[in-house]
Amino acid sequence: MIVFAPFTDDQVESLNGFQKSGNWHEFTCGENHAEDNTLIATKAGWVCPSCGYTQDWCHSFMCDWNWDSVRRTLLDERAENNSQTHQG
Ligand SMILES: [Zn+2]
Repeated sequence: MIVFAPFTDDQVESLNGFQKSGNWHEFTCGENHAEDNTLIATKAGWVCPSCGYTQDWCHSFMCDWNWDSVRRTLLDERAENNSQTHQG
């Protein structure tokens, strides 16, 4: 599902957490800047820190913390696999 701006405070927090989570490719500006082109979530929408490009939508799982529980599941599975490898 697609969610459009304006975003709530909580959604902005979730979106910026998603951007830094490193488990997925984050939203970036379409321009190939030498500078940082990772979009920053604001209540009015996404903004590129280098050129001012804006984007007004996101996927619902990005803004409702769903990505965080998926990430935790992935981390748990990874930890389990690791402990299995080290057994015996
Ligand atoms: Zn840009």
